[in-house]
Amino acid sequence: MKFNTKVIHGGQEHDPAYGSVMPPIYQTSTYAQTTPGGHKGYEYSRTHNPTRNALENALASIENGKYGLAFGSGLAAIDAIVKLLKPGDEVISTNDLYGGSFRLFTKIYEDFGIKFHFVGMEKASNIEAYINNNTKLIWVETPTNPMMNIIDIVAVSKISKKHNLLLAVDNTFATPYLQQPLNLGADIVMHSATKYLGGHSDVVMGALIVKDKDLADRLYFIQNASGAICGPQDSFLVLRGIKTLHIRMQRHCENGKAVAEFLANHSKIEHVYWPGFENHPNHDIAKSQMNDFGGMISFTTKGNNYDAAIKIVERLKVFTLAESLGGVESLCGHPASMTHASIPKQEREKVGVVDSLIRLSVGIEDIDDLIADLEQALK
Ligand SMILES: *Cc1c(COP(=O)(O)O)cnc(C)c1O
Repeated sequence: MKFNTKVIHGGQEHDPAYGSVMPPIYQTSTYAQTTPGGHKGYEYSRTHNPTRNALENALASIENGKYGLAFGSGLAAIDAIVKLLKPGDEVISTNDLYGGSFRLFTKIYEDFGIKFHFVGMEKASNIEAYINNNTKLIWVETPTNPMMNIIDIVAVSKISKKHNLLLAVDNTFATPYLQQPLNLGADIVMHSATKYLGGHSDVVMGALIVKDKDLADRLYFIQNASGAICGPQDSFLVLRGIKTLHIRMQRHCENGKAVAEFLANHSKIEHVYWPGFENHPNHDIAKSQMNDFGGMISFTTKGNNYDAAIKIVERLKVFTLAESLGGVESLCGHPASMTHASIPKQEREKVGVVDSLIRLSVGIEDIDDLIADLEQALK
């Protein structure tokens, strides 16, 4: 089955009860048993729920995995991965990453005795110096947030396999429409389904997808034992979102390209971060591991003025000033004061999150309205 068919049919069956084409929202916590243990595969909804299972099967299919797991948020999904580890274990992580992931690693799990190294992975060979006997996991986010760096998943997976480490990839920005990390050698794919998979800014959810049965069993155990699951209504909404992922992504990419080119030619812009440009340092890797370049763009303005950046995001009208990304509507954000406010100024500037940096999640509106909006805000 090709991807555009998988998003609609992959892993999906019509409901066995009445043949409903979309799975019903099984809004139930428990399931009747005829005798203790005599049930139809469902006992309690933390463990299993038919609507959630339908979504999990679809997730596995679109990422070319075997097992999908849905969680109450992207961070709950990451939390489940870190729970595979023990005190004393070490993780090598991308240094430019989602602020909430950085916070979870450093503010929660460092206190549990897990050590994190934050490494610039644009050159995959930078990783090897940090590997020792305690290293267990490599954490990759690509494209990175918000600097749009690209990490070579195949190159990192060669290193992870050589040293027998787990490789997890946060695929939130790219989505499986653009990039399929399991095909490139990753062991775990993670999503904030809140973003492109849901696609309509109406759900908070996370997901993991794996191929290996043992790894899946360990993660299912954690999902059930820790209990950070999502509800049936949200499962239904994300399943519905996935069914249009391919056409939404196609338009996100088209609009993203047009916006990136508009900004690159604007006199007030200092730099545009978008992997589709030939002068992007890892453009060739992006071209080889992604099918297109997506709708996430960051840019800085000349003079690097904090107040000017705030003014721009306040003036944008079609682009809503808001956290998050990946919905049908265009959003803008100011990482230094929003998503990355929890990262110390010195740390964030090291990776390029300077005062004038603005991040756009380019939506699927008419491109003329998006360009006109940017034009008036930059005046
Ligand atoms: C939003 C996001 C997360 C966290 O997901 P939540 O659903 O907000 O918990 C993790 N990684 C990336 C890249 C994100 O954009």
